[in-house]
Amino acid sequence: MIPYGRQEITEEDIQAVVNVLRSDYLTQGPCIEQFEQSLAQKVGAEHAIAVSNGTAALHLACLALDIQEKDIVWTSPISFVASINCALYLKASIDFVDIDPLTRNLSVDALEEKLKKAKITNRLPKLLIVVHFSGAPCEMESIDKLSKYYGFKVIEDACHALGSTYQGKSIGQCCFSELCIYSFHPVKNITTGEGGAIVTNDYKLSAKLKRLRSHGITRNSIEMGHPIPGEWYYEMIDLGYNYRITDIQAALGTSQLKKLDDFIQKRTALAQKYLERLKHPAIQHPNTLHHSTSAWHIYVIEIKSENPLIKRDLLFSQLRSRNIGVQVHYIPIHLHPYFKKLGFNQGDFPLAENYYKNAITIPLYPRMDQKNQDYVINTLLDLLDKKA
Ligand SMILES: *Cc1c(COP(=O)(O)O)cnc(C)c1O
Repeated sequence: MIPYGRQEITEEDIQAVVNVLRSDYLTQGPCIEQFEQSLAQKVGAEHAIAVSNGTAALHLACLALDIQEKDIVWTSPISFVASINCALYLKASIDFVDIDPLTRNLSVDALEEKLKKAKITNRLPKLLIVVHFSGAPCEMESIDKLSKYYGFKVIEDACHALGSTYQGKSIGQCCFSELCIYSFHPVKNITTGEGGAIVTNDYKLSAKLKRLRSHGITRNSIEMGHPIPGEWYYEMIDLGYNYRITDIQAALGTSQLKKLDDFIQKRTALAQKYLERLKHPAIQHPNTLHHSTSAWHIYVIEIKSENPLIKRDLLFSQLRSRNIGVQVHYIPIHLHPYFKKLGFNQGDFPLAENYYKNAITIPLYPRMDQKNQDYVINTLLDLLDKKA
């Protein structure tokens, strides 16, 4: 089966991991800070805090912004469930903003409409979590204006967007957000096995995040507000978690990060070829804002046709039976049973639901070769043409 995405691990990566295994520290050693520095430098942020996975990064990001019970948090319904579960962990009230069918990111117009209504009913959000879906950046400048006018904070879920740029700057520079988070799961743009990170330009937030990932404990006398009695001494000053990453993973991350530019270049070339070669009236391709570039985490096409024989569901199973590992990203979050129990319904976000009916993710990963990509393209066009 040609997978929809997969990691690329080299001998260099393996050596980096083996070196840690032979060293004194498997966790809480020097590799974590090294990885954090490389990541911060790569994306142009002041601080990076590496954690155990992207979901932990989201949870800590919300905690650092002091999200609590009764606070309101919004995100896009077209994302992985973790993008909003982080708010539920803190007992916040959640809601979604429907998507822009062209970019599949949350629609700025829908956001503005919803904010106007929320202001009247006194239900304005404290936090908006934007998701750069598939790697295509959201319209951050307009979102920033709304955030200043209506007084909400912004977290970027950039799990798809390590290597994307907006207005010529890396996603992660946090020009229009408090915090930006990444995942390093094997399907993402670089991997540490499991892993994640938060980047920010705010020193205070970074210090708090470092405490929160390790039980809320500090060894810093300035953070305690008094001198320490001895070197053994530490204090727990927040309720934190064990969300640490290991040195083994961090070493892999540093090694992978060196290849990020190469990965993105390969992903971009594959995406370009799909755009040029997959020419069919029933196929709608992804769009990226003109002043931004996508890291092409996934390539999602939508199957749209008047012909009743051309349906996403049928095409999905036909492609799978031809060894093409297509996927669907994502089932709209509000349609999962857990969210229906919270009061969400079919029909709440019609553009997201319509997108979901037609969407199909086709294979794209750095090491995908010409032969496999040609096979995907030709099979897809054949299947569509047979029904035309
Ligand atoms: C992968 C992903 C996450 C969660 O990351 P994990 O490392 O798997 O916890 C969150 N949001 C989005 C958009 C993702 O793609």
